[in-house]
Amino acid sequence: MKSKPLTSTELTQMIHGLNRLARNLWWTWNQEAQEIFHKLSPRTWQNLYHNAVAVLHEVSDYELRTRLQEPAFAEEVQEVLAAFETYLNEPATWAAEHARALQGKPVAYFSAEFGLSETLPIAAGGLGVLAGDHAKSASDLGLPFVGISLFYRQGYFMQAINDDNWQTEYYSMLNPRNLPMEAVLDAKGEQLTCMVQIATSQVRFKVWRVNVGRIPIYLMDTDLPENEEHYRDLTLRVYGGDSTTRIMQEILLGVGGVRLLRALDIQPSVFHMNEGHAAFLTLELMREKMATGCSREEATEATVNECIFTTHTPVEAGHDRFSSDLTQYAAQKCTSKLKISHEVFMDMGRVRQGDASEPFCMTVLALKHSRSANGVSELHGEISRHMWKDLYADRKVEEVPIGHVTNGVHVAGWMKGPLRRFFRRRLGKQWEKGLNTCEFWKRMEDPGFVSDEEIWALRSLLRRELIEFSRRRLLMQSHNLNRENFITYDHLLHPDVLTIGFARRFATYKRAPLVFQQLEHVIELVKHKQHPIQFIFAGKAHPRDDEGKRFIQHIIHLSQHTELQGHLVFIENYDIHVARQMVSGCDIWLNNPRRPLEASGTSGQKTAAHGCLNMSIMDGWWREAYDGVNGFAIGPDSHPDSIEEQDRVDSENLYRVLNDEVITTFYNRDALGVPRHWIQKIRRAMATITPEYNTWRMVQEYAQKYYLQDK
Ligand SMILES: *Cc1c(COP(=O)(O)O)cnc(C)c1O
Repeated sequence: MKSKPLTSTELTQMIHGLNRLARNLWWTWNQEAQEIFHKLSPRTWQNLYHNAVAVLHEVSDYELRTRLQEPAFAEEVQEVLAAFETYLNEPATWAAEHARALQGKPVAYFSAEFGLSETLPIAAGGLGVLAGDHAKSASDLGLPFVGISLFYRQGYFMQAINDDNWQTEYYSMLNPRNLPMEAVLDAKGEQLTCMVQIATSQVRFKVWRVNVGRIPIYLMDTDLPENEEHYRDLTLRVYGGDSTTRIMQEILLGVGGVRLLRALDIQPSVFHMNEGHAAFLTLELMREKMATGCSREEATEATVNECIFTTHTPVEAGHDRFSSDLTQYAAQKCTSKLKISHEVFMDMGRVRQGDASEPFCMTVLALKHSRSANGVSELHGEISRHMWKDLYADRKVEEVPIGHVTNGVHVAGWMKGPLRRFFRRRLGKQWEKGLNTCEFWKRMEDPGFVSDEEIWALRSLLRRELIEFSRRRLLMQSHNLNRENFITYDHLLHPDVLTIGFARRFATYKRAPLVFQQLEHVIELVKHKQHPIQFIFAGKAHPRDDEGKRFIQHIIHLSQHTELQGHLVFIENYDIHVARQMVSGCDIWLNNPRRPLEASGTSGQKTAAHGCLNMSIMDGWWREAYDGVNGFAIGPDSHPDSIEEQDRVDSENLYRVLNDEVITTFYNRDALGVPRHWIQKIRRAMATITPEYNTWRMVQEYAQKYYLQDK
């Protein structure tokens, strides 16, 4: 049947719809929407790192109008635009039923970083990715919610490795006009600006809005000509600069964030501090209340009543602490507005009142000024109660008021193409309904729903996609695109071999090189004729963390070892895109932190839906999720006291599990070449992990336990 050409009005509407769609990160968790932008300009989509706005800048309106006259493409576009509108306007959300009290009084979620998409690199690692996944799920659930953060115009660094295998950092300038975000305007249609006092200066900032489905994230940006030069650069980089920059960024985030919400006439019912970075928001809330005539005591009490706090790290150095001098200098205006002396102010961030030797700690400020606080896994909650018990001297450690909500991941956003296509074939167009439920994933344990062979085929495809991705990336990394290299790089890694992945920040407690402690043994395993293994590593060390950089150097050095070459690779410039390839393509996701320092960990949660199995120390989320079948545990649910002993025992346990359980089970094949027992484990991982360790469950838990509970 011949179809009628689209009318000019229809075309205009569709183009308008595409522009709206491009500026809403909903497309980061909708594959069909991504495919439209990919088809419009495959090269732009790839080169500009999956950026829908850049694609629409590349493709002219004339070309769009012309291309949309292809009926099949137009139909695809119309379907996606309809799904997008339906999503935005859905009245029957979870929150409409369960979180009515928040209507018109949203949760304001403050986070120094948001990891939403590889194309908007304003996150440093897990904390930011968690914030991004939290926002996406809040949108899915219809939760009234706004995110507050900073726009870092150089983002987080990109990683390059020099000739000494040493990490170097470089930055590129982000252009807001070419990114999925838009300038926030005031009532007169001009750029909205707000002001915050830092040290002795008035610092102005403008604001960008990132649309994440139904919810906005506002990013503050001090790059304005009227600011002094060093304040223009305050929002240059994620955690950039020294502690002076850091405390000033945090004043901007906390104090500026509250100012911004007021300027937008948003009156939150809850202020959620994601990590201590945001804790200065409590000062601004107190100031506001005192300005209306409250006493300091009343202002404090009212502030405590509207704030909640999530702590993310049991690593001492992970808690921001500022010297008395720096705090006095940077926050002097805050102190004067609260009509308190510097020493009284310092005590707000101290465990031991009046101890002049104790610096100002943002975690302490947050704990003292929130109605509830939580860690991010059961064990981390317990560790946090111990860490901060001195703040609650009248209580027993079990009664320290720090609970826990275990982290999760936004499932739809992490699912790779082959997996989505599998479910779509099985369940039809509406396949995503119920994606976060037990019933959805329980089906994966039913051989009548999916056969072993089909699961194995899916695994094989995902592994191949990862290996081809790795080869492309490694060739690009080699800076040496000659013919010989093309051939060599096409033989790196083997698509049939048990593939072990490790990718995360190279914080030293995560012990990236642990698996190479017995090098001879590893070489034997890698070179084994019948059941070899191979490794893919990735990760960034913090620019000032030389120890972390030494770990990277060591692993890259090993990857050049004659016996390991081609069986161990390091992919540079780890980010959300690299993460997505790795968590889906690997067979084993290795995590060997020094217990109990992995507060939760989330990368392992991204793997389960893809049939990649976790092999991890019993720390963070894994000690809650492991059921004896759905993956592998390294060591018991306890750890020795000394670090040396711990490294020794963990490494021994790691090799034992690898040899006796992982390799044996993976290569235990039947006559058809299918590892039945391994696939049993995959089925169990899918059925037990994904429905529990996702951000839908997590956000619902935050809502029920914290957002909806007044003190
Ligand atoms: C998921 C993720 C992390 C967190 O990894 P952990 O293993 O939990 O530390 C860090 N960075 C990126 C890019 C991620 O996608």
